[in-house]
Amino acid sequence: MTTVLDRLRAGETGFSVEFFPPRDDEEERILWRAVRELEPLDPAFVSVTYGAGGSSRERTVRTTGRIARETTLTPMAHLTAVDHSVAELRNVVGSYAAAGVRNVLAVRGDPPGDPTGPWLPHPAGLTYASELVDLVRGLGDFCVGVAAFPHGHPRSSDPETDADHLVRKIEAGAGFAIAQLFLEPEYFLRLRDRMAARGCDAPLLPGVMPITTPRVLSKFGELAGVEIPPSVADRLRPLADDPAAFRAAGVELVTGWCERLIAEGVPALHFYSLNRSKATREVVTSLGLDRRPAAQVGA
Ligand code: FAD
Repeated sequence: MTTVLDRLRAGETGFSVEFFPPRDDEEERILWRAVRELEPLDPAFVSVTYGAGGSSRERTVRTTGRIARETTLTPMAHLTAVDHSVAELRNVVGSYAAAGVRNVLAVRGDPPGDPTGPWLPHPAGLTYASELVDLVRGLGDFCVGVAAFPHGHPRSSDPETDADHLVRKIEAGAGFAIAQLFLEPEYFLRLRDRMAARGCDAPLLPGVMPITTPRVLSKFGELAGVEIPPSVADRLRPLADDPAAFRAAGVELVTGWCERLIAEGVPALHFYSLNRSKATREVVTSLGLDRRPAAQVGA
């Protein structure tokens, strides 16, 4: 079975796509349309996030399992430690294995309700993502990834300490890391330098989201955890009342960042898709990333 790491080590820069598990039939239809539209472009893998609450969690198992069964794609299921005992975490990992999912993104999760509130581990659970990596790796032949934060994790005192913790997750057995959104490639590249300075050369994937609307731009800043810098705001905000011009400029801006990152040798670009494929397909094809590796041509 192909793992995420196999694909990341294949040589040429690729791309991957992140989805969230659908909440109802309509969202299910939208998600599967995106999956089917992206499948021919041969993403290195597609991942499905893991949310709070029982039913959302079951949907991650169901969605990744269906991707494994019904498509040619390599699925990766996210898993969060928050609000879970170790026994429950083992159970979810068992469900992933039973569904044919061998790639897991091990993240800690945020406190339910107020994500900025105090972090309280489950009494029989885990405190840091590094412990989750260790747990998942110990449960079988899983390929495990972790989260990384180019602007520093909001709970971290400083970027250097945050990089120490990131490298600790790799040392615990993770094979690669996926970066949260960032504004301007330099932030991502500095994080990669901090990893290299610690002797860590695990693949680090930039998180990318085409900025198609003013709402996406606000969401972007929120997720990256920073103010939108003037270089971005001055270019996009004057176009806020012209949806077509805003979208064109936002996609062009992000495509430019991607070109820089490809030139810097990133193994793949990870697209936060919000379960829509159009903008991702546009950027991926304009960058020439929509090709199957030689070994798979004609497959
Ligand atoms: P950790 O690596 O455990 O880090 C949490 C904080 O503790 C950081 O400040 C870190 O520097 C610090 N730290 C780490 N180890 C130590 C240590 N040993 N000693 C002291 N301090 C330490 N959330 C979801 O709910 N579902 C998802 O599916 C999901 N997917 C994500 C995917 C990606 C690519 C990213 C970037 C984030 C995702 N998140 C998801 C969000 C994530 O759960 C939160 O950002 C969370 O706050 C941090 O998770 P982490 O795995 O980085 O935690």
